[in-house]
Amino acid sequence: MLGLMQDRPLSLPHVFRRAERCFGHKTVVSGRVGGETTMTWAEVCARTRRLAAALDELGVPAEARVGTFAWNSHRHLELYLAVPCTGRVLHTINHRLFGEQITYVVNDAADDVLFVDRSILPAIWPLVDTFTTVRAVVVMDDGSDAEIPEDARVVDYEDLLGRAANPGHEFAVADENTAAALCYTSGTTGAPKGVLYSHRSIVLHACLLLMVDTFGINERDVVMPIVPMFHVNAWGLPYSAMLCGAGLVLPGPAMTPPELAGMLARHQVTFGAAVATVWRGLLPVLGRHDLPAVRQIVCGGGAVDEALTRGYQDTIGVPLTNAWGMTETSPVVTASRVGTAHDRCTPEQRRALLGTPGPAVPLTEVRIVGDDGREVSWDGRTSGELQVSGPTIVARYFGSRAVADGFTDDGWLRTGDVATVDRHGYLRIVDRTKDLVKSGGEWISSVELENAIMDHPDVSEAAVFGVADEKWGERPVACVVARPGATPTVETVRDHLRARVASWWLPDQVFFLDEIPKTATGKFSKQGLRSWYVADNRGPGKSI
Ligand code: AMP
Repeated sequence: MLGLMQDRPLSLPHVFRRAERCFGHKTVVSGRVGGETTMTWAEVCARTRRLAAALDELGVPAEARVGTFAWNSHRHLELYLAVPCTGRVLHTINHRLFGEQITYVVNDAADDVLFVDRSILPAIWPLVDTFTTVRAVVVMDDGSDAEIPEDARVVDYEDLLGRAANPGHEFAVADENTAAALCYTSGTTGAPKGVLYSHRSIVLHACLLLMVDTFGINERDVVMPIVPMFHVNAWGLPYSAMLCGAGLVLPGPAMTPPELAGMLARHQVTFGAAVATVWRGLLPVLGRHDLPAVRQIVCGGGAVDEALTRGYQDTIGVPLTNAWGMTETSPVVTASRVGTAHDRCTPEQRRALLGTPGPAVPLTEVRIVGDDGREVSWDGRTSGELQVSGPTIVARYFGSRAVADGFTDDGWLRTGDVATVDRHGYLRIVDRTKDLVKSGGEWISSVELENAIMDHPDVSEAAVFGVADEKWGERPVACVVARPGATPTVETVRDHLRARVASWWLPDQVFFLDEIPKTATGKFSKQGLRSWYVADNRGPGKSI
């Protein structure tokens, strides 16, 4: 027997209508080069309708991918709504990727048009002829004076909106499983893989963030996603803010610590979200500002260190909280929380607990699987691979090179993280099996870096591994074996890499060894190298 309830799709047109009808008076602040713009949700929604009409006028087909290279801004927000609410797919792209990776993801997604912030255009325009499907590049003026090329493909965003008529009809997406947004993750070995979110997964995830035991975001909040809108939909925060009518503060290109601190204070931000590197950079300048409104600061995408969370408690009276997630998981799967099980904990213990990932949010499930393929007990000690499942978790990857690996036979996502779970369901990440380095919230592929170093004619072997770094969380270190008779130097290796990888991938330290330790199967023993590195007490900055 089926239930007799209305079958209405969980879709973004509902989110849009709610913001438009109920919260038109609330504001969205956007940073731009040298200033900021304040708009009401009513204005943003009206512009979204015009943008939807403009997409029609540009001839963007149904289901086409619309690529964005943009900071967190009201224009990016308009794209977040107009693209999926008209049945197209928003493809947000990280402009900090290396050129070849950008070309790969634009072509793999077959982006039809690109929307690019003017300040980002100089990084993207040199690649434009490598994009095989892109018909137009819409430039969004974010106050930068970067040159705009004289080219028939270039269109100005405001001109486009100015010319577009209000379509005058309601947005509708009949099937909640329709694709809404696409984000490639480079947190993987091999080619970047696409994660194709549906309307249903985005709406469910937006609701999850509103729950009191998740982030409790509500209409009285002023939410500032510092985490980029090109990274997992800015952790879903813009959609959650729309659903509940929270104010939004979007920093745009104004990403320096003084600029961010100024925005937090000026706009009475109550809820902020960013990776540890950003919060670490902000802490020294926060003390100069009065921040009585801040109620929660989420530090996600990586571990939270003790000193940082204590620093926040001491400086602004609010500890950092942690959340665990991946591009593949929308992203929030766990959110830290002090529950009744911790009533007897000291204030210090509670603060430390908030710095760990915490329990899974409703609708998602986690399990820890040992080397023998069996689930381990939730005893807070036994570790194994973290696997996750739920309606906000990817079922398979999108893209021409997407392979079926990464999933178990019963359809759970294998995260590549090693974790423990305690008897109350609280997660702790203890290690990572994927051969990647996470620096400032962005991935560096050890394998790609090794291959690039081994391309050097003087190098016979190279192994790259991550080491803890105070500022960036982790940084890559390279161990190199020279070819017989050759004498490569740190500088020749780094110079060689400069032409092959993004500048922030360059290993901070390069060591020359006679031999790289290997595992029983002949692979580089990263564990062995890390132990050697720690035992030799080589701190950041030291090199041989
Ligand atoms: P991404 O897909 O770029 O968001 O990266 C996801 C990965 O970041 C996870 O698989 C973890 O390796 C790492 N990560 C995310 N959140 C946390 C956290 N709270 N603690 C430790 N590592 C994390």
